[in-house]
Amino acid sequence: MRVELLPSSLPVSDAQFLVSYLVNGAVAVDAGSLGLLADLRRQERVRHVFVTHEHIDHIATLPIFLENVYEPGPDCVELLAAEGVLDFLHRDIFNGRVWPDFFALSTGDDRFVHGTPLVPGTPFTRAGLTITPLPVSHVDGSLGLLVDDGRVAVAFPSDTGPTDDFWKHIATCDRLQAVFLEVSFPDEMADLAAVTGHHCPRSFAAEIRKLDRDVRWIVVHRKARYAGVIARELATLGLKHVELVEPGRVYEF
Ligand SMILES: [Zn+2]
Ligand SMILES: [Zn+2]
Repeated sequence: MRVELLPSSLPVSDAQFLVSYLVNGAVAVDAGSLGLLADLRRQERVRHVFVTHEHIDHIATLPIFLENVYEPGPDCVELLAAEGVLDFLHRDIFNGRVWPDFFALSTGDDRFVHGTPLVPGTPFTRAGLTITPLPVSHVDGSLGLLVDDGRVAVAFPSDTGPTDDFWKHIATCDRLQAVFLEVSFPDEMADLAAVTGHHCPRSFAAEIRKLDRDVRWIVVHRKARYAGVIARELATLGLKHVELVEPGRVYEF
């Protein structure tokens, strides 16, 4: 399985402002920076976009991406998200004001987008991947994803603070090799992390102990302003198997 966290800064750097992962080039997890890929063919290869929640860093370029890849005809991109998130995208983004109503414009023979509601705990098979959405602890209805190709599995808890069911579920997956887990704030902002459903290094350290498995813990979603402090605090904790994500690197599992 190939996983890339798409860069979201110019020039490309470790700074992460937006969230989009590409899995095997065909499935996107979130669409923060998906529409910024300079190579349009790479955008066109993405046929399924899973949206974990509605925060702008996760959907920022979704409208641009859908416009970039639109071709007249019945084939279109599939947007997979919780029912509430699909409603929100329709009402507040694709509403004919902020952006055209791609849902209403999608008729039988000519479609911009097709929405598929995700049901927590119900796996979906797309592009050879079995993807299970699982509840996490962020805004209401936020979903993390377990992505399994039958040989290896990788987990994307997306934005979350301390949570339990997600870890219980993925602990049963023997193929699990890596988890892309967030650390948004430094320890001195632990209170803010707690009320906004995010991690700081200390809560991250407690969290990874919930999964009794040797997996790679790849740290994502450091607020750019605090990225250096977070890296130093994580290093001080001396945790095993923890690394900082490199945006634009293709991880092979
Ligand atoms: Zn969020
Ligand atoms: Zn976020």
